[in-house]
Amino acid sequence: MNLTFPIRSDKLSMSALVTEQICHEKTAFQTIDIYETEVFGRALLLDGHIQLTTFDEKAYHESLVHIPLMSINEPKSALVIGGGDGGVLRELCRNKSLEHIDMVEIDEGVVRLCREHLPSLSDGTFDDPRVHLHIADAFEFVKTAGRQYDLIVADSTDVYEDEEGALSEQLFTDTFYLDCKAALSDKGILVTQADNLVFCPYSLVSIMEMFARVFPKVSWYQALIPSFGGYSGYCWASKGAEISHEFNPGDLELRYLNNATYQLAFQPLTYA
Ligand code: SAM
Repeated sequence: MNLTFPIRSDKLSMSALVTEQICHEKTAFQTIDIYETEVFGRALLLDGHIQLTTFDEKAYHESLVHIPLMSINEPKSALVIGGGDGGVLRELCRNKSLEHIDMVEIDEGVVRLCREHLPSLSDGTFDDPRVHLHIADAFEFVKTAGRQYDLIVADSTDVYEDEEGALSEQLFTDTFYLDCKAALSDKGILVTQADNLVFCPYSLVSIMEMFARVFPKVSWYQALIPSFGGYSGYCWASKGAEISHEFNPGDLELRYLNNATYQLAFQPLTYA
C-alpha cells in the first residue's frame, strides 16, 4: 500500500510505499502509527502527520539539539518538551557536561511504542540516570518546573493549517513562552522545531513573532529533511545568548552536520 501524508494540509502531500504496518494504536490523545517503508525506513505518524523516519531523523535531531547546544558553555540542565520518540534525549545524552535532563511528554503511548518499535531513536537513554521522564502536559509542567535549564528543546507536534484543537495548541502561545523564559537560565537557549519553512512559512513567521514579544534575542535556522518535504525550520530565543555561526563540534561525531550543512543552516533559501 501507499502511505500518503500531508506536508501542507490538502495543498501538498508525500506518498511512500509501505512494506509492513508495524503498529496502530489510538490513545486518549492521538492515533499512533508506525510503518516500515521502502525508501524512508520506519516512519512514525501521529494523527496521520509525519513525525520522523529512521532514514533522516538523525539530521532532524542533530540540528534541533546540537546547533544550540554547541553554543552553550558547560550546559548543566536541559528540558525536552514532547519528543516522546526519544531522539532528542539520545542527542542530549551524548553531552557529558549535562547533569540533569527533564522530559515532559503528554502521551505515554508514544514513549512505549517508540521504545518497542523504534529503539534506535532513544538508544537506551530513557534509562540514563540523568533523565527524568514526566508524563504530563508541558503547558502545566513549565509553570511549576522549579528549576532553570540551560537548554529547552520543544519537539512537540505542529499546529496544522485548517485543523482545529491541536494537542500542542497551548504550546504555541505567549503564555507558554513566558513560562519557558522563567525556566531558562541567563546563558540558556530555547529552541523549537518550526515546521517546513519553505512550504509552510507562516509557522516560522508566527513563532518568530511570538518569541520576539517575550525574548530579547530571536532567530531561526534550517535543515534539509527529505521526509518533511525537504526542509525543516527551527526557531530559537534567549535572554542574550547567541548561536555561533562557526561549526565547532569538538569530539562529537555527527552524521548530518558538517561545515557545509552548518553554514547552510543560517542562509535564507529564496525560490519565488
Ligand atoms: N519531530 C516531530 C515533528 O516534527 O513534529 C515531533 C516529534 S514528537 C513525537 C512530538 C510529541 O509532542 C508527541 O509525542 C506528542 O504527544 C507531544 N506533545 C504534543 N502536545 C504536547 C503537550 N501539550 N505536552 C507534552 N507533549 C506534547
